[in-house]
Amino acid sequence: MKILIINAGSSSLKYQLIDMDNENVLAKGNAERIGIKDSLLTHEVIGKEKFKISKNFNDHTEAIKEVIKTLISADKGVITDMSEIGAVGHRVVHGGERFKESVLIDDEVMDAIRANIDLAPLHNPANIMGIEACMKIMPGVPMSAVFDTAFHQTMPREAFLYAIPYESYLKHGIRRYGFHGTSHKYVSLRAAQILNRPIEELKIVTCHLGNGSSIAAVKHGKSIDTSMGFTPLDGLPMGTRSGSIDPAIVSYLMEKEDLTIDETSEYLNKQSGVLGISGVSSDFRDLADAAADNVERAKLALEVFNYKVKKYIGEYAAAMGGIDCVVFTAGIGENTPAIREESCQGLEFLGIKVDPVKNNSKEIQTSKEGIVSTDDTPVKVLVVPTNEELMIARETINLLK
Ligand code: ADP
Repeated sequence: MKILIINAGSSSLKYQLIDMDNENVLAKGNAERIGIKDSLLTHEVIGKEKFKISKNFNDHTEAIKEVIKTLISADKGVITDMSEIGAVGHRVVHGGERFKESVLIDDEVMDAIRANIDLAPLHNPANIMGIEACMKIMPGVPMSAVFDTAFHQTMPREAFLYAIPYESYLKHGIRRYGFHGTSHKYVSLRAAQILNRPIEELKIVTCHLGNGSSIAAVKHGKSIDTSMGFTPLDGLPMGTRSGSIDPAIVSYLMEKEDLTIDETSEYLNKQSGVLGISGVSSDFRDLADAAADNVERAKLALEVFNYKVKKYIGEYAAAMGGIDCVVFTAGIGENTPAIREESCQGLEFLGIKVDPVKNNSKEIQTSKEGIVSTDDTPVKVLVVPTNEELMIARETINLLK
């Protein structure tokens, strides 16, 4: 069966068509600037050159129409008819406490996703637009919702509750939810496969280090803690996000810099993180270049980042009562040996030691997958390329069974 994966943003729509008989991606692409002028569809048939279609998309429905048209077109397509799409899997950011796993979408599910808009005002409305557009164009085709938060719903209450009045949880749903759940689930399962051990026996720390970064403690296949919280601003410092800070800084800054609520949010979400420290860039490649040129604040940003990753690994080893494996994934985790090595430095007391030769090897750089720890240490350090789309497709197939 062929499954279409949709990841809808407010003005963009990413997609992949996956043949689940062999899990091969047939085509993928991105519609950008939806509802803004100069919209653009970039489409790639795997193994062929990418091409771009400039066309105005007033809304997500028009964008999806063009995606389907392209997928079935004689020259650029990979299927002959829309009926070949057996199901659509949608990425939905926030499932709140209602969704502990992926679900097939019906009216009641749509209402529940809408009810979570307050918790993800930037993301859930866009995800809803993507779902509604697909339903309009592909009526009768089963659709699933796969939530970023669902995998973390196994966190125990001592991990998800913030120490502010309990009423804030009851009244407003303020608690740790965690994000990137699809990625943490995928890479922890894959790590168990690579180690050839049942996931039910393993204590894994998964480090999803990308533009947005989060770390999870996956004990026996279940997330028991994660660094992102009520929103994706919590936890590690990121490209432009502050990560955890003393909450008193917020009111102090607002007063000292005369900031409004929106300006404060922009300060912490867009001007902070490694960009804020370095003043150079939010991109870790730029930071590495600047650090090599001895730009002091770029070095400092990387040091702060590595230190925080290390602390989370230690913290989650404590939370799980041990650790068997550390997994690095996403843009930075898969591509930056120095971050893997430096964030694990000093963790030898836990049995964690990165082997510089394996870590810098051509094999790892090409496949982005494998073990990079020394042979004589008990804890395995792995690089695993994340694949959220494949995870969504697998979850969708499972729901159809
Ligand atoms: P997103 O959260 O937007 O999906 P990614 O997972 O793509 O982000 O990660 C983006 C980060 O990964 C950037 O800081 C970038 O520097 C880094 N990165 C991505 N690709 C590479 C690469 N090939 N080599 C080094 N760093 C990379």
